[in-house]
Amino acid sequence: MRQYQQFKAQYPGYILFFRMGDFYEMFWEDARTAARTLGLALTARSKGADAIPMAGVPFHAVDGYLRKMIAAGHKVAICEQMEDAALARGLVKRDVVRLMTPGTLTDDPLLDGRTDNYLAAVYAIKGGQVGLAWAELSTGNCWAMSGTEKQAWEEIARLRPAEALVAELPNGSEDPLGAKLRALGIGAVTARPGWHFTAHHAREQVRKQWQAATVGGFGFSDDDPAILAIAAILSYLQETQKTEMNHLRPPRRHLVEEHLSIDAATWRSLEIDRTVRSGGVEGALLGAVDRTRTGMGARMLRQWLRSPRRDVAQILHRQGAIAALLEVPAEIAAIAGLLDDFCDIDRIVGRVAVNRGGPRDLAALGRCLAMAPQLLDRLAKLPRKEEVEPELVGMRSICEERAAHLNAAIKATPAPHLREGDVIADGYDAELDRLRQLATHSQQWLANYQASLAKESGIASLKVSYNKVFGYYIEVTDSHRDKVPMQWTRRQTVRNAERYITAELKQFEDEATGARAKSIALEQQLFEKVRQEMLPHIAPMQELAFGVARLDVLCGLASLAQERRYCRPTVTNDRILEIVDGRHPVLEQQLGSQFVANDVHFGAEDSLLLITGPNMAGKSTYIRQTAQIVLLAQIGSYVPAKSATIGVADRLFSRIGASDEIHGGQSTFMVEMTETANILNNATDRSLVILDEIGRGTSTLDGLSLAWAISEHIASEVRCRTLFATHYHELTDLAQRFVGVKNLNVAVREWEDQVIFLHRIVDGGTDRSYGIHVARLAGVPPQVLKRARQLLGELSVQQVGQVKAARYRRNDDRQPTLFADPKEEISRAVLRANVEEMTAEQAMELIKELKKKYS
Ligand code: ADP
Repeated sequence: MRQYQQFKAQYPGYILFFRMGDFYEMFWEDARTAARTLGLALTARSKGADAIPMAGVPFHAVDGYLRKMIAAGHKVAICEQMEDAALARGLVKRDVVRLMTPGTLTDDPLLDGRTDNYLAAVYAIKGGQVGLAWAELSTGNCWAMSGTEKQAWEEIARLRPAEALVAELPNGSEDPLGAKLRALGIGAVTARPGWHFTAHHAREQVRKQWQAATVGGFGFSDDDPAILAIAAILSYLQETQKTEMNHLRPPRRHLVEEHLSIDAATWRSLEIDRTVRSGGVEGALLGAVDRTRTGMGARMLRQWLRSPRRDVAQILHRQGAIAALLEVPAEIAAIAGLLDDFCDIDRIVGRVAVNRGGPRDLAALGRCLAMAPQLLDRLAKLPRKEEVEPELVGMRSICEERAAHLNAAIKATPAPHLREGDVIADGYDAELDRLRQLATHSQQWLANYQASLAKESGIASLKVSYNKVFGYYIEVTDSHRDKVPMQWTRRQTVRNAERYITAELKQFEDEATGARAKSIALEQQLFEKVRQEMLPHIAPMQELAFGVARLDVLCGLASLAQERRYCRPTVTNDRILEIVDGRHPVLEQQLGSQFVANDVHFGAEDSLLLITGPNMAGKSTYIRQTAQIVLLAQIGSYVPAKSATIGVADRLFSRIGASDEIHGGQSTFMVEMTETANILNNATDRSLVILDEIGRGTSTLDGLSLAWAISEHIASEVRCRTLFATHYHELTDLAQRFVGVKNLNVAVREWEDQVIFLHRIVDGGTDRSYGIHVARLAGVPPQVLKRARQLLGELSVQQVGQVKAARYRRNDDRQPTLFADPKEEISRAVLRANVEEMTAEQAMELIKELKKKYS
């Protein structure tokens, strides 16, 4: 227990898995936590007053338990026995060999193959700049950025790291960023000493990890907060992994201005990588467009969606690759078929690098590398191969060479664990073959020996057997005891039998048991040698993995385009957005041919499309699909439309009613206004904004006034491309007052007492909301509907009067007014008119116009 306490004190914050023979045991509070998390029985060591709560898990099943502990947000320290308990004198030596934390996983069973598992570090320096770094230990990728705090949060919301590091302040408390990370839903937030985030430490870490004298070579300045965050990540990884990390690549700089920026609320509400309701990928954009065949590809597609591009050339480059693949449809299927059998090269290489790769990892890698040339040959034969994945084609020889090496060394289906032997291939090492021969032949030898003894002694029933404690022995039942030859030595008496040993059997025992133990030890050595020989090839293997992942994504997008008839959008730098027969990528897959395609026309002068129409008509679907189409276009994908011209957006914003959700104690209206303020303050004329029902969370007049003012501001000041779905019909007046504002509505057919939603977007405004109709569809009882209809009639009359009486005017008199009093407007128009110079017809015209407008 003293030993246990000592490790426990050394690793505060970790649950200690303490190896005792075939079990990992936990004590005291850890035992309680483990029992709760893992559903284990809580037992006790010692009895009575000294009883210590204890819980344990068998060592061979530890993976499953670790997964649960980590998933529940715990960190685990694994303490192993460092010597053979049978040989140890006194207390068995133990040591913590590994720290497992949610953000530093590498083991297959602990990870989701199709999702990255990030460790992030955030650090704010004076003046508001924030450094953010994130690393994926299992693949060795790492990125870093610096920017405003807002930009860092946007990135974190999309990354959703499994764990985040923040600095400890000089007074020992955690940086307040930690609390914000937890509020974002990041379960594991770890505070690290402040000096881990310093330029000096960064230089040291970078030198240690990448043998680079300065960080300049990676594109960072010395005091860039991004590099300070990287430094903190490096020291955390070293501390937890306790091994070299040859596979960790230098950080890539993430430049905010190169990407379509998507804030947290937009990311969430557009349901790009998961749905709001279930949190799953099913029903999200990713779920609808992901046709990748490998985990590497799936993870890369997620990265693409998370960071759509702004640079037209980069977008065209990806489009070009998809187009080249689409020219040879049969190849897409053939390549996909080959990719199906690929292993996760990236993660296997990562595990090999941190010395956690098992026999099956190397076998899978060998198999995969052996089939890679087949894939590369196919690529080399593509008519426009240089547009697809030209670097891959050149990797043929390294694949062959590595495959030959691995496959000669490792059995095709090795035992899962090295401790079982049966890993290294026959014929790889002469000494191993000899030892194995000995071990296998022993069975034969034993059978022969037993037969010959039986014959010599005349005891037909004797048996030569083995047990762990006494080794090999000859067992003779009591009834034959008198036939036992003198030269046999008695070893043990058991019920109804005696056990003996002979000099010959003893000699055999020494050789045979020795051979097995020796062959397993030798296999371990050989395996380590094979692993070591892999290390210099890690970088090219990572290149290969990257190329295969990219090919997988491109092929996936090509087959999606083929299967769902997506078109190649024209992507430009102009401020334009034209979509013909656009479809919602997710909904169209659910509804099939029932889905109604719609157009979007944003000319260079247009800024605001107001979509009015009843609830359930398809307004949200229309505006969301537009945002998703733009996003898809900016990752380089084809898009669900007949044709499209898309001027790249710099930012994407959405404000979509999250009406019933609770937002950390803020009222729905507050959240709505915060998001709206963010849009108005940050959108540019290159941004794409979708607004769904602004102002719903307050009284009608407040809401309408705000919606009006916001629309005006967008149309006259910000001029971002905006799609605004609203049930405020009054807003349709804006179209007459501002250039660049257009009214759209959703076509509805009324037929007898029925209302049919056509889901077709048409020009013009509408003034009916059909709410009662929707209520009927939802099953509201007929008498309630009847009463509602009656009230609607009365209220309409009253409301019109009320609205007309309300006055809303901005301070600036030149601004148009809303709900103006007609009398006042008419008298103003008359006063403004230059009556002296008017002809009678013109005067007549003015009167007619005023009458039309205000009657
Ligand atoms: P609104 O925002 O106008 O209340 P939604 O966009 O939420 O309406 O659409 C309501 C439902 O109508 C959707 O769940 C879908 O089933 C159907 N719908 C919407 N748009 C289309 C469309 N273009 N084609 C077919 N069905 C649609």
